[in-house]
Amino acid sequence: MNIVLMGLPGAGKGTQADRIVEKYDIPHISTGDMFRAAIKGGTKLGLEAKSFMDKGALVPDEVTIGIVRERLSAADCEEGFLLDGFPRTVPQAEALESLLADLGKRIEHVVNIQVEQDELVKRLTGRRICKVCGTAYHLVFNPPQKDGVCDKDGGELYQREDDNPETVTNRLEVNIKQTQPLLDFYENKGVLKNINGQQDIQKVFADIDALLKGDRG
Ligand SMILES: [Zn+2]
Repeated sequence: MNIVLMGLPGAGKGTQADRIVEKYDIPHISTGDMFRAAIKGGTKLGLEAKSFMDKGALVPDEVTIGIVRERLSAADCEEGFLLDGFPRTVPQAEALESLLADLGKRIEHVVNIQVEQDELVKRLTGRRICKVCGTAYHLVFNPPQKDGVCDKDGGELYQREDDNPETVTNRLEVNIKQTQPLLDFYENKGVLKNINGQQDIQKVFADIDALLKGDRG
């Protein structure tokens, strides 16, 4: 089962990714993990990627795609994989398609967890972090027992600079603009499956599960 998982920040992608890989026993492949593994393994592409990252530059597509190719060729991907954070652009999606074709594979499902922008802003601005131990709380979903104070050590909770409504809204809008062409690309391929992310976490997973099992969609 070869899956691409998509969703805006705050849509609950991480939680659902964990559940999907557990249930279907496939590797969770995120861009960050892939880069870290390639760099740690000292592969030619890993070192190349590192040279760009050390300069604070974007890793060029050809390097990224080479790393993706190596990763998806590994034995643990034989029964499938869950890609998370890649592709980000249509050219990357096209490159993915052709490298998978070389491997005799294709993307079967693009699971897009949909949550309205207002709700995402609410979710993303509610984060509060302990100054002492770094524990993250959420005013709505995971509030501390006492306002503004860490349950573990009584440390003061603060809001990260980039969690304020204006920054969050800007970040989301940039993200939406970047993601739309990719969603259109997969829609045209007939593999895009939208999932309502504005439900209970269990229900979101039940919907994804039903979809992957082929019960609908
Ligand atoms: Zn704390």
